[in-house]
Amino acid sequence: MRRNIVAGNWKMNKNAEETEDLLNELIDKLPHDVEAQIIVAPTFVNLSSAADHLEFTNITVAAQNMHQAESGAYTGEISASMLTSIGVRTVILGHSERRAYFHENDALLASKVDTALSHDMEVIFCFGEELKDRQNNQHFNVVENQLRDGLFHISKASWEHIVLAYEPVWAIGTGETASPEQAQEMHHFIRETVRSVFGSDVAEDVSILYGGSVKPDNAKEIFSKPDVDGGLIGGAALKADDFVAIVNGIR
Ligand code: PEP
Repeated sequence: MRRNIVAGNWKMNKNAEETEDLLNELIDKLPHDVEAQIIVAPTFVNLSSAADHLEFTNITVAAQNMHQAESGAYTGEISASMLTSIGVRTVILGHSERRAYFHENDALLASKVDTALSHDMEVIFCFGEELKDRQNNQHFNVVENQLRDGLFHISKASWEHIVLAYEPVWAIGTGETASPEQAQEMHHFIRETVRSVFGSDVAEDVSILYGGSVKPDNAKEIFSKPDVDGGLIGGAALKADDFVAIVNGIR
């Protein structure tokens, strides 16, 4: 069901104590009456304690990644059943940093999506063009290909477990944000692309988040666009006051 979502991707930040401190601040400061699902994605080693800590709150915990195999000789990796066994039922897949630094391509992501869905997990599927793609006017093609190759093999029924996160690479961690008009233009294109393959029910129900240097001072305008259903927040998710201000931008 289409809903507003604000998700914080903490990346490789916050040790155990800092994680607990930030969670406590968020529990204190996040509004209870906001019409949005709030998600935080701490690093793997702090996921279990975070899931316990947030059990009776309105904040959901997500993993930042997972492996596609069920189990086996994959040193350093984390499986879907490890995540669900500690109460984590949402996973971010395809973040541009995973694509760029860990060479995750669309085919690999397609198999990670399958594994997550087979464990009834919710997937926040990230994608977005690089600066050169936009400069060459290829951004719509790139996004369409990422969706088709990484995600469009799933069944229509599986879409209830999918959240889309459009994150133009040139806007991630750079302070450079897509304008609200650029975000709306791409989100509209994404929804129409989903509609053309899976039909209107799926297209109208899927939440599409924007990510890329969302801050307290630009969140409200970006979130006000009709095809923007919230945000995936990196840097600004590490400060409780900034994250809370961004969540309040959804009103
Ligand atoms: C992200 O990492 O998903 C992200 C959007 O980062 P930032 O908000 O720092 O640009």
